[in-house]
Amino acid sequence: MGVVGVVGVVGVVGVGGVVWVYGGSGARLQFNDAATRRLEMEPPVRERKPFVGGNWKMNTNRTTSADLTRGCVDALAAIGSVETAVFPPFPYLLAVRSILRDRGSSIQLGAQDCYFRPDGAFTGEISLEMLKDCGVQLVLAGHSERRHVIGETDEIVNSKLRAILDAGLTGVLCIGETLEQREAGHTDPVNQRQLRSGLADISADAMSRVVVAYEPVWAIGTGKNATPEDAQDVHAKLRRVIAQLYNAEVAERTRIIYGGSVKASNAAELFRGADIDGGLIGGASLKAPEFAGIVKAAAGGSR
Ligand code: PEP
Repeated sequence: MGVVGVVGVVGVVGVGGVVWVYGGSGARLQFNDAATRRLEMEPPVRERKPFVGGNWKMNTNRTTSADLTRGCVDALAAIGSVETAVFPPFPYLLAVRSILRDRGSSIQLGAQDCYFRPDGAFTGEISLEMLKDCGVQLVLAGHSERRHVIGETDEIVNSKLRAILDAGLTGVLCIGETLEQREAGHTDPVNQRQLRSGLADISADAMSRVVVAYEPVWAIGTGKNATPEDAQDVHAKLRRVIAQLYNAEVAERTRIIYGGSVKASNAAELFRGADIDGGLIGGASLKAPEFAGIVKAAAGGSR
């Protein structure tokens, strides 16, 4: 990781093309099709605060969710400079919130999903107002399991992200290609389509409450990872799309995090890229020391 801040930007993106030049903090980056070159460059002063979220998925029970929360609070207490969140299953949100609040923890409370309608006859669904009522601050939209197991479309994901932002919460927009799409050489078009459609009708102002999570589907829960170079390449291209949709400033301040079998042992390597601002963590977030190791790796990148 290593990032140029909004402060000190003296040049802007050349859309369709090729050159971004920044200055002011001593950093100067040329951002062209060989985006991975940024890996080799001297990291400039970081302005984007790293973000690491723990997505517990459909795991834990009343006892273990409370134990895990307490474990995370203790393990993360001494690690600064990283924004952290946990995303417990819905039934445990209130209990997790109580523990976080009672212990004065800075770990934020997230929800794994939501419904985009405010209320009504939508059996089984959960509204943003209900989540806010439970103290939720962030919500995932478009996690690959929602897209590929439950069948959510790009349009549904966009409706959810808009509803999350309209409710004043932070949205984590998850995108990523399947193995089949990667092998067919469609990684970039798939991710860029999911990003563009996910962000449809979202204002530049609201983008300050959007985190983008690039999670290659084939890497989620499989023990496989993208290489740091491949991840950086995708992230750099996604940032370029955000610059095209909005402007260079929005692109530079938007956090793009990586997800897919991140562990304490590989996090530092995976977070090395200049455009990788932390991670969304599934399996490894179910063990507090392991999660803390990942958060430490993210903190190590914020220099
Ligand atoms: C996830 O659920 O977002 C995820 C990345 O899972 P895992 O870390 O288990 O691959």
